[in-house]
Amino acid sequence: MRYYEPQITKMTTSRTVYLGIACITCFILGVLAGGYVIDDYSVHNHDDSVTQVSTIDAILAGLYDGVISYGELKSYGTFGIGTFEGLDGEMVALDGNFYQIKADGAVYRVDDSMTAPFACVTFFENDYEIPLQVSMDYTQFQDYLDDTIREKNIFHAVKIKGVFYYVKARSVPRQEKPYPPLVEVTANQTIFEFNEVSGTIVGFYCPDYVEGLNVPGYHLHFITADKTAGGHVLEFQVKDAQLSVDFSSELRLILPPTEEFNRLDLTGSKKEEMEEAEK
Ligand SMILES: [Zn+2]
Repeated sequence: MRYYEPQITKMTTSRTVYLGIACITCFILGVLAGGYVIDDYSVHNHDDSVTQVSTIDAILAGLYDGVISYGELKSYGTFGIGTFEGLDGEMVALDGNFYQIKADGAVYRVDDSMTAPFACVTFFENDYEIPLQVSMDYTQFQDYLDDTIREKNIFHAVKIKGVFYYVKARSVPRQEKPYPPLVEVTANQTIFEFNEVSGTIVGFYCPDYVEGLNVPGYHLHFITADKTAGGHVLEFQVKDAQLSVDFSSELRLILPPTEEFNRLDLTGSKKEEMEEAEK
């Protein structure tokens, strides 16, 4: 985490007082107008970074070997999504706890010695928070955030905690070598459907320009409040939930230091495969 210290020039006491009053007035007006903005999210707290392991195109190509241990990954974040060696299920990290949701639907705690071929984590800090009391599905949620959040060209960690009318999620079964491409695996994914369920959606918004590196737009995973089920989110309908967003303008990329990675042909676009496998 890096902090940029602003250069503060000398200020007289009276100026400080005027500034203080102006700030308080702005805050009160802000609260009256919007009610929910807990911070001026266009200015503050952008300095925390997102750490990503491997690239989405390497995963699409079938590179499911672990790149980093979960013990080490935890030093880069306590919130996020990912998968496991051999593509053995979906990972959710929430409040420092890491969960593995396997294709059989069961949820396991992640051991530090397990490894991640792909992951995206951060230390979640609320920059923006708003209640979602109007029912909206995944598409409406994306449209809503597109209209609400102005900063489309930086990364956002996204957390939606509450009650959902419906969540449709999936997980994938562990693969054996030689690993098949991701689209072949997701063709046999297990789908889980939840109705009237409490839980948390955890994930990231990535800008469009990340194509090839990560999933442009939203990549969300879900875990139930009792931590017994979840998966990679395909659809949802919010009932009553709280949306929290953490803006990050710093991306740390950990690439696989392996022969296999360097031998991959990552030149062409895999956009169609990505849409098929992840959306
Ligand atoms: Zn996923």
